[in-house]
Amino acid sequence: MHIKLTASALLALAFAAPQALAKGPASTANEAATARHYASLIAGEPKTAELTLFFTQMPKGGDLHHHYSGSVYAEQYVDFLDKQGYCLNKLTYRIETNKAVIDAERAKPAAERNCLSTAEVYADDYTYRELLQRWSNKDFANHGALQPPPDRLFFQTFGYFGPVSNANFREGLQELKQRAIGENVGYIETMFKMSPFVVNPDFDKLAWHNASDDKALDAQMGAWLAVLEQDAGFRQSTTDFVNKIHEAAAGIDDERFTMRFQTYVLRLLNPSQVFSSMVSGFKAAKMSDKIVGVNIVGQESTMVSMRDYALHMKMFRFLKARYPDVKIAMHAGELALGDVPPEGLSFHIDQALVIAGADRIGHGIDLAHESNAAAIMAKMRKDDIPVEVNLTSNAFISGIEGANHPITLYRKYGVPYVISTDDAGVTRHTLSNEYVLFASRYKPDYAEMKKTSYNSIRYAFLPVAEKQRLTRQLDSRFARFEANIASLAKLQAGAK
Ligand SMILES: [Zn+2]
Repeated sequence: MHIKLTASALLALAFAAPQALAKGPASTANEAATARHYASLIAGEPKTAELTLFFTQMPKGGDLHHHYSGSVYAEQYVDFLDKQGYCLNKLTYRIETNKAVIDAERAKPAAERNCLSTAEVYADDYTYRELLQRWSNKDFANHGALQPPPDRLFFQTFGYFGPVSNANFREGLQELKQRAIGENVGYIETMFKMSPFVVNPDFDKLAWHNASDDKALDAQMGAWLAVLEQDAGFRQSTTDFVNKIHEAAAGIDDERFTMRFQTYVLRLLNPSQVFSSMVSGFKAAKMSDKIVGVNIVGQESTMVSMRDYALHMKMFRFLKARYPDVKIAMHAGELALGDVPPEGLSFHIDQALVIAGADRIGHGIDLAHESNAAAIMAKMRKDDIPVEVNLTSNAFISGIEGANHPITLYRKYGVPYVISTDDAGVTRHTLSNEYVLFASRYKPDYAEMKKTSYNSIRYAFLPVAEKQRLTRQLDSRFARFEANIASLAKLQAGAK
């Protein structure tokens, strides 16, 4: 406890510094002009085109809830087809990976071929547009487009582009980096890859049996952890996993941009897979300064996710006690009324905080339905645990937006928050657009939007020195931005 207080006191000092810096009269005037300009954009009917211009240029610190494979746009995945020697089955829109089938297709005359290369996909507009409707939410809201249940469409996209998203990491990361620089984002913490796991049916059976007996479950996990730690194959798979991430990350960081990685477990798998994947995830995070945290992903409303939710939280508690300095961000409460029976909406954020010990909460949209909502908000506020808000994703997948989004509650009760993208490739947006949505719907003042940008560095899973570096970078980016907006405002005055 004492150590924790010292660390947070240190952080408070680190973050007091930029605010406390004496500003010159010019920068203070620019900031005030920017605040006035912004206020005029949200007054009355929000001027969304002008807000788009404003937020595309505004420095946005970092993106802390970001899935690598869901952030790459489908267009780039089509480019990856040729790179991997695959082709697209134009009847199913799935990627063909079987070499014998691909060779047989290539031997056919073009008119009879059902499997298309990258160039052939681009040349066939019908196939290309149909592909975009399956590999992303492109055209979803348009008349005549495919309209399966949006959550199903969303989660199925990963199956379509899976074969090419699990390779070509360097190209994928470079594109994400360039896009981030283009919209003035300096840091991304991406959920990159699932950490390796082992299948153990005996562990599964026993875990379900011990699910509500904490002592027996801890003993069971302790026993298998000891076995895994002696298992040369398991150790090697964790080392290989770390090396693969380092290989992919080579050449990404520079003075303009920094990227760090979270590993994750998939909550749809059996307990032994989830637990061993969590073990390798914690160990990988311990081994590498590029891997800064562990997460849990997968649709939360499925039968397995719901059945094993509490079990997964206890697994996190067990490993967090052994690796207290490994950070965990958790998808928790990404559920809307009707997704599951009502009692299923009543405890996920609570358990992620109280049992698992989450350092950040992802989504948290079932808040208003949770039995301990008030205590959750009090704890997040007191322990300085932020919620990661993903407006586009929540609106598309869960139908939660506007006054129905619990950001209204989090803000009202002083819970820190960050704005993030989730899967900007699948839902086809940008971090800038998330700021536009936030500003136009909730109309916070400029000071709050600026603080939100700084918060995405403050709550990053980075060492204090790195946060200080990125905070200083943000200071100078804001100084430039505010100077530009002040001149824009002058230009506007001149045009009148
Ligand atoms: Zn997510």
